[in-house]
Amino acid sequence: PGGIERRQYDVVVIGAGGSGLRAAIAAHEAGANVAVVCKSLLGKAHTVMAEGGAAAAMGNLYPEDNWQVHFRDTMRGGKMLNNWRMAQLHAQEAPERVMELEDWGALFDRTADGLISQRDFGGHRYARLAHIGDRTGLEMIRTLQQRLVALGIDVFMECTVTDLLLSRSEAGDNAIAGAFAYWRESGRFIVFDAPSVVLATGGFGKAWKVTSNSWEYTGDGHALALRAGATLINMEFVQFHPTGMVWPPSVKGLLVTESVRGDGGILKNSEGKRFMFDHIPEYFRKETAESIEEADRWYDDKKNNRRPPELLPRDEVARAINAEIKAGRGSPHGGVFLDIASRRTPEFIRKRLPSMYHQFKELADVDITAEPMEIGPTCHYAMGGIEVDPETELSVVPGLYAVGECSGGMHGSNRLGGNSLSDLIVFGRRAGDAAASYAAGLASRPQISDDDVAAAQASALAPFEVEGAENPYTIQQDLQQAMNDLVGIIREGAELERALEEVDRLKERAARMSVEGNRQYNPGWHLAIDLRNMLLVGECVAKAALAREESRGGHTRNDHPGPNPEWGSKNLVLRLNAEGTGVDMTEQAIPAMPDELKKFFEE
Ligand code: FAD
Repeated sequence: PGGIERRQYDVVVIGAGGSGLRAAIAAHEAGANVAVVCKSLLGKAHTVMAEGGAAAAMGNLYPEDNWQVHFRDTMRGGKMLNNWRMAQLHAQEAPERVMELEDWGALFDRTADGLISQRDFGGHRYARLAHIGDRTGLEMIRTLQQRLVALGIDVFMECTVTDLLLSRSEAGDNAIAGAFAYWRESGRFIVFDAPSVVLATGGFGKAWKVTSNSWEYTGDGHALALRAGATLINMEFVQFHPTGMVWPPSVKGLLVTESVRGDGGILKNSEGKRFMFDHIPEYFRKETAESIEEADRWYDDKKNNRRPPELLPRDEVARAINAEIKAGRGSPHGGVFLDIASRRTPEFIRKRLPSMYHQFKELADVDITAEPMEIGPTCHYAMGGIEVDPETELSVVPGLYAVGECSGGMHGSNRLGGNSLSDLIVFGRRAGDAAASYAAGLASRPQISDDDVAAAQASALAPFEVEGAENPYTIQQDLQQAMNDLVGIIREGAELERALEEVDRLKERAARMSVEGNRQYNPGWHLAIDLRNMLLVGECVAKAALAREESRGGHTRNDHPGPNPEWGSKNLVLRLNAEGTGVDMTEQAIPAMPDELKKFFEE
């Protein structure tokens, strides 16, 4: 089709969060001609919201810390469903990647000796999160972005990719050939010709009603990958962060960083009881404090005490809070209390948690140095994502790579806090390297067919052509409500079946969805396009959650309590069905861990 803007690159990175920027820098440094495409402004990616820090066993505070301990914590946090090789590479390479950020100008907080300071987070045996106050993501993005610009890498912002384009040779190989996108402002289309595409599009939390995620998190990368023939794993595992704001309603779900607990905050119910001691699971009992005294001593002496139960992995804490609220011991606005005011001085709180202080002061009129916060679980992170090779982040589609939150495997059934920021830089670099070398090694460039471009254009414009009465905003609201109610923190077979029926109904309604106006900055049209992705991803999560008849990590089944060892050795793999209307699911054995790593888990 004529009149469509066209650009040629070796590597196109979709997403300008930490993982996309790190991948772009690596691909550029490997000699590739690189573009970064993102649907919001550069610097606005989700990574900017990350508060607590990046987990890396640097051993700055505890010399006993090393990659083996970090690896063990990560695998146990994910209830052993993580891809062991990804968890190993992550633990081994994170310290180097954090140091590199410092070389590039990131201003980390310091220890008294001038080393990068590290803070405590749930599930990590030692203080391990490199941080910048509670604004770590902001500094990470600032640093990476500055380097990206200095290297002269092209950026296409406010530009949304709606389809990946494949080469269709006579031999039938379906390798990546490029991507199709539209400019949000003008609505005009653009085609990127590129043999390597790196998906770095983040998560899909916007499919839930109460979420810490921003408007960008609509699962685009997950859906683009499925439609291009790639596979998704771990989709049943969605992390509900234990502490989101519950009041006022306009900010319900907004994140309250785990650093509040890492820095001494405790959880209390309406009876004033520090209830987490009642919710310590057997699996973690040996490494959790037995008494309030031991828990409180741990902050200053980690060698001789065990960590407080408030710092159990997120899935455990979120379930405990949920149980307290359900038992009628919740706070006035339907949460529980998070108290740091009675535990630390106002100076300490304002220095360590400046953003939290302002967030509560400005949004809820609560002074967290003087009174407790009200908090409750909020949909936060997608463990599930595109299945990739651990070394290169290559999906099953030649030329298609995936990194960051849109990829799967690394975190298994539950992610430890701080392990995402480090995941972004470790695997971002690996994917960028691999994508560049794949592009350089090709004898000829894959070709995009005009028919595929025309089809992508027709699909993007479909909502303007439909004579229907359905409104994308209403469908999105109904999906968010259904996911919240039926695919939430505690699940049940019958409810998951209802969720799948509901998604089917919403898909039918989405086919009759029409938008008004023209293509110039038209948010209704943008949402109509994003909705297809959210619906597909919602189906994946509900389908996998229904099949997995056990409780593990971020997947809790009321009707199948507790983990089942059989399920502990397999993944559910989703791919687009032959008609392209939904997804098919198969079981797959998880890769076997070598003996030299197994020994870390023998007790
Ligand atoms: P993102 O940073 O979300 O970037 C996604 C990019 O993809 C954006 O640029 C977006 O515009 C682009 N994009 C998406 N779809 C398209 C499309 N169709 N076309 C073009 N571009 C597209 N993790 C930690 O480890 N430590 C923390 O302290 C921490 N704190 C957090 C606090 C909050 C409030 C939240 C929400 C998360 C936190 N996390 C934390 C998780 C972590 O921030 C995210 O998992 C991580 O930043 C994701 O990075 P990413 O590179 O995968 O994607």
